[in-house]
Amino acid sequence: MTHNPIQTSLVDFDAVDSGASCIYGPVKSWRLGSSLGMDLLLNHSICSFNCVYCQLGDIQVKTAERKIYVPTEKVEHDLRLSDWETADLVTISGNGEPTLALNLGEVLQVIREYTAKPSTVLTNATLLNDPAVRADLNYADHVACKLDAASDVVLQRMNRPVAGIDMTSIVSGIKALRQSYDGKLSLQCMFMPTNHDDVDALVELVKDLDLDEIQLNTPKRPYPMSWLVENRGNHGEAIVESRVLKTISEDEAQRIESLFGDATQGRIPLISIYR
Ligand code: SF4
Repeated sequence: MTHNPIQTSLVDFDAVDSGASCIYGPVKSWRLGSSLGMDLLLNHSICSFNCVYCQLGDIQVKTAERKIYVPTEKVEHDLRLSDWETADLVTISGNGEPTLALNLGEVLQVIREYTAKPSTVLTNATLLNDPAVRADLNYADHVACKLDAASDVVLQRMNRPVAGIDMTSIVSGIKALRQSYDGKLSLQCMFMPTNHDDVDALVELVKDLDLDEIQLNTPKRPYPMSWLVENRGNHGEAIVESRVLKTISEDEAQRIESLFGDATQGRIPLISIYR
């Protein structure tokens, strides 16, 4: 197996010592099918966003700095012990933003070589201006980018990014990825009353992105009041004290779907959580 050398000095050894597995599931996903979850962050919730609807709750480590949180050797070990053969695909998301993991590309190569299953990376698209991140994502079969806002006002209200991230940088990152990436590129849009004001502008913005699919969502999972590693694979059931979030109605979801359909003239497949 030919991996690029990894700087072990950058490894967060706390994450290695916890005994938790990097693998969870397979879980049924309305968007993806039977999906084996892979978590490259593991011991804390770690993200460059702190979304108001995050199933992990209030993000513990808010950062845009890439480093190795879990060595590739541990990820590979946990993968071999998992129920990977029954899954349709492997999805890297877990306890936060997976592109923060400096060994993302190496792990994607492990998935390809060991399981021969397709891989999906769920990203908040905040690091896509980094050529090294885009190079890592070239090893994924599918990249799904989050985009919930069209203005910096709503971005701050909905996604609460770390300093230095704004709409201009996010959109330019998605466009840069599209130029270099030949795999399937999806957009994931979460809708709730918080981003209602940006719906029309978001529809306009999407016209300029050369996408293969748009996923329309609303937060059906509760917002946990504390972090547990199990939150990463939680598909609806409250496992810690949590609060239910405001969603959009089915009528509003259909209206939004029609707006996207009209704007893209039916050229881009739309998937809605309500269908
Ligand atoms: S980008 Fe994902 S992991 Fe990060 S805060 Fe938002 S929902 Fe949570």
